[in-house]
Amino acid sequence: MHFLKADKLFNGSHFLTENSVLVLNEQRQLVDIILENTIDPGKVEKLKGIITPGFINAHCHTELSHLKNKIPQKTGLPGFGKQIILQRFASHKQEIIEHIKEADKEMWQNGIVAVGDICNTPDSFEIKTESKLFYHSFIELLGLNPERANDAFNMGVLLFEQLKNMELAGSLAPHAPYSTSNELISKISAFNLQRNLPSSIHNQESEDETKFFNGVKNGFDDLFAFLQVEISWFKAPKTSSLNYYAAALSDQQTLLIHNTYTSKEDIEFVKNKNLYWCFCPNANLYIENKLPDLNLFATQKNKLCVGTDSLASNLQLDLISELNVLMPKFPDLKLEDLLSAITSNPAQALGIGAKFGGFILGKNAGLNLIDVNAAQFKFIKKIN
Ligand SMILES: [Zn+2]
Repeated sequence: MHFLKADKLFNGSHFLTENSVLVLNEQRQLVDIILENTIDPGKVEKLKGIITPGFINAHCHTELSHLKNKIPQKTGLPGFGKQIILQRFASHKQEIIEHIKEADKEMWQNGIVAVGDICNTPDSFEIKTESKLFYHSFIELLGLNPERANDAFNMGVLLFEQLKNMELAGSLAPHAPYSTSNELISKISAFNLQRNLPSSIHNQESEDETKFFNGVKNGFDDLFAFLQVEISWFKAPKTSSLNYYAAALSDQQTLLIHNTYTSKEDIEFVKNKNLYWCFCPNANLYIENKLPDLNLFATQKNKLCVGTDSLASNLQLDLISELNVLMPKFPDLKLEDLLSAITSNPAQALGIGAKFGGFILGKNAGLNLIDVNAAQFKFIKKIN
C-alpha cells in the first residue's frame, strides 16, 4: 500500500478536507481515502502542491498533428479552414502517423488520460489501440446540402464500424452548423441516441458563422466558392446558428466546441438541452484572436469543459496552458471551476465518469501534481 497526501487534494469537483490521504495498492489503483490521524504519519508521502485526477482533453484532432506551425495565425476561421483543406492531405501517411504518435505521447506526459478526438479518417485508429490514453473518437461528418445527408451518414457509419471492429470507443458527430445540414444532424443524433453515445459539434467559432445564418455577406462565401460548393439554394434563417440547429439535437449529451460568439440569449434558448460548453482558448487566439466571454456561462459551471483543439491551431497539447489563458481573464471562475473543466465535467460529457475524471475507488484514473501561483497553474509531475 502507498499513502499519499499533498497541501490540497482536488477530487474532480471539489477540494477534500485538509488531512485526507489517498491509499493506492501495488497496481496503483486508488483503494481508499482515509484521514491522516488514522495511520502512522511516517508512512505517508507528503507532496507540495495540489493532487488532481488525470486530465481529460475534451476536444482534439490528433490526425491534424502534422500541421503544427504550418497554418498562418489570426486569419479568421474561413481562411484557416481553407489552409487545412489545402495542406492536410499533402503529407505522406507515414509522416501523419508519426505526428499522431508524438501527440499521443505529449498528452500523456502532460497528465492527460482521456481525449475526445475528432476523426475524418481512420489515420489515428491503429495508434489508439496501443495508446496508454483512453480515446473517444468522434467520427465527424460534413454535408450542408440536405440531399447529401444519406451519403455522408452512410460513410460515417462505415468508419464507425471500422472503429468498433478495432474495439475502440466512439460515436458520430456533425462538424459545424455551416457545414452540416439539420437533416444530417438529426440522423447523427438518432444514431447516437439509440446507442447512448455522446456527440460534439463546433459551435459559433467565428462571427462569419453568425453572419452566414443571418444572410449577411461573410467569409464562408469565399470558402464555398474555393471548394466549388454551390449554396445559392441555402436560405438564411436569420437566427443564430445554435438557435437554428438546436432542435435537430437529441437529448444525448453533446459537446459544443468553441462558443466564441455564443450570446446570453443562445445559452437561455438551449437551457433544457443536454449540452456541455467546451472552450479551446489557445486555438481561438491562434485562429480568430478572440476569446469567448466565460462570464456569460456563470450558470453552467458543471457543464464547462476545456480542450486543446489540434496542433494545426495550437503549439502544444497541454490543458494547464489552456487554463492559464482563462484564469487571469475570468477571475470569477474559482479554482474548482477551472479544474472541473479538465476532469469531472469532460468525463460526464464523454460518458466515462465511472473510470475517469475523479478519485474513483478501485480504478487508476491518473493522478497529477500541480501548483497555483499568481493566477497561473504549474504542472509539476504526473504521479500515476
Ligand atoms: Zn476542432
